[in-house]
Amino acid sequence: MAPATVVAVLGYVSLRQWETATDLLFREQARDLAAMAAEKVEMMLRHAEDAFLDRLQAVLARGSADARTLDGLVAQFPLIRRLYVFDRRDRLVYPGAWLHEDAAVFRPLLAGTPPGFWERGGKRALVSGDHVLLATLLKSRGAPVLVAVSRDLDALRREIFETTLGGLESPTIVAVVDHRGRPVYSRTSLAGAERVLSVSFREGLPSWSVAVYVPPGASPRQAVQRQVAVFTAAFGVLLAVIVAGIVLAWRLMRQEAEMAQLKSDFVANVSHDLKTPLSVIRMFGETLEMGRVADEGRRQEYYRVITRESERLSRLIDNVLDFSRIEGGRQTYDMVPTAVEPLIRETLEAFASPLAQQGFKVETRVAPDLPEIPIDANAVGQALANLIDNAIKYSRDRRAIAVDAALAEGELAISVVDEGVGIPPEEQGKIFEKFYRVGRSETQGQRGSGVGLALVKHVAEAHHGRVTVESRPGTGSRFTLWLPVVGRG
Ligand code: ADP
Repeated sequence: MAPATVVAVLGYVSLRQWETATDLLFREQARDLAAMAAEKVEMMLRHAEDAFLDRLQAVLARGSADARTLDGLVAQFPLIRRLYVFDRRDRLVYPGAWLHEDAAVFRPLLAGTPPGFWERGGKRALVSGDHVLLATLLKSRGAPVLVAVSRDLDALRREIFETTLGGLESPTIVAVVDHRGRPVYSRTSLAGAERVLSVSFREGLPSWSVAVYVPPGASPRQAVQRQVAVFTAAFGVLLAVIVAGIVLAWRLMRQEAEMAQLKSDFVANVSHDLKTPLSVIRMFGETLEMGRVADEGRRQEYYRVITRESERLSRLIDNVLDFSRIEGGRQTYDMVPTAVEPLIRETLEAFASPLAQQGFKVETRVAPDLPEIPIDANAVGQALANLIDNAIKYSRDRRAIAVDAALAEGELAISVVDEGVGIPPEEQGKIFEKFYRVGRSETQGQRGSGVGLALVKHVAEAHHGRVTVESRPGTGSRFTLWLPVVGRG
C-alpha cells in the first residue's frame, strides 16, 4: 500500500506540474500565433493601402484630382470605403457632396492630427465612430493636402483577414476583435469557444486585436483533466490488484500456518497412537514372561490383547505408510474381481475382540448375490477398517454398528453406520481433508492421526468411486463407500 500511495502522490504532483507547464506552453504558442497573425494582417493592409495612396499621389501630382477621377479611383479599390481630402486650412476638397456619416468623421480626424503633422507628415491611424481611419499627408501640385480614408469592413474581412488568417492551420480559432471588443472576423464559429488571449495590432488597426480562442472541450486544461481521469482509473485498477494480492497472500499464509499446525498435531497424535499399543503389548508381554499369570484363561486373554494391540499398531503404520505413498504419488492399486461379502466379514473379524470387549452390537446386512467387482482388496479392506475403527472410536453409550452392502444404481454401496457422537454439518465437508480432525487434536476425547478419512477418500477415487457421509450430531453417522460395479480404465 505504501508504494501505491507514493505513486499516487507523485502521479498527482507531476500531473499538476504537467498541467501548469502545458498551459504555459499553450499560452506561449497562442501568443506567438496571434502576434504573427497581427503582423501579417498589418503588412497586407499596409500593402493594399500603399497601392491606393501611390495611385492617389500620382493623380494629385498630375493636378487631375477632380471629383470624377477620384470617384473612379475609389471605385477601383473595394477596401477604400470613403476618401476625404482637406487643404491646409482644413477645407474639405473632396468629396464635393457630404454624406451623413461624414460629419462624425471630421471632428476626430481634425482633432487627431497634431499641429506638427502638416510639417512632419507621416501616417496615422485613428478610430472614429465605427470606423478606423488612415490619415496621411500627400502633395497636390506642391501643396500639402490631408488625405483620410476609411475602410470597408466587408472588404477588410474578405481581402485582408480571410486571405491572411483563413489558411492558418491550428487547433485553435484565430479571430479579429474590433475596438469595441466585438469579434469581426473568425474562420469558424466562436459559439462556446473560450478566449485564451489577445494581441493588439500595432499601427494599422489601433485598439483592434487578434484573439485566440479554443473550441469547446479542446482546452489543454480539459485535455489534462481527461488524462487525470485516465490516470485515476488506472490507479484504481492498480489499487484493486494490490488489495486482491494482499488478500490472496494473506489467505495463503493463513492456509500455510493452518497446515503447519495440522502437521505438528499429526506428528504428536501418531506418536501417541504408536506408544499406547506398544506399552500395552510390553506390559502384558512382561507379565506373561515373568510367569506370574497362573490362570490359563487370563493368559489367553493377555495373548488376545497383545494380538489386538499389534493389529491396531499394524493398521496405524499401514495408514501412515499408505498416506505417505499417496502424498508422494507412489501408491498403486491392483484391481482384481473380488467378492465383497467375505472381504467385509474378514475386516469385521479383525475388530471382533475390541467390539466384543466394548460391548458393541454388530449387524451385517449384505444383500444376496452381489457380483464380484474389480477392486484392490487390500486397499478397500483398509478403507473399511478405517471406517469401522472410527465408528468404534466415536461411539459413546449407544454401542451399535451396522455394515450394509447393496447395489444402488449401478454402484455397490458399502455403509458403516454408528450411533455415536455424529459430525456437525459444517464439518462434514472438511473431515476428508488430510490431517483434519473435528475440533483439531483430542477430538471428542479420542486420539487419531487425521489421515484415516483422507485415505478412504483416496481409495474410493482410485476405484472411480466416492465416499459420502450422512450424520447428525448426537445421533450417529453413516459413511458410505460407493464403488462402480463395472471396472473402468
Ligand atoms: P482420526 O484419526 O482423527 O479419526 P479421520 O480422518 O479418520 O481421523 O477422521 C477425521 C475426523 O472426522 C475425526 O477426527 C472425527 O472428528 C471425525 N469422524 C470420523 N469418523 C467419525 C464418526 N464415525 N463419527 C463421528 N466423527 C467422526
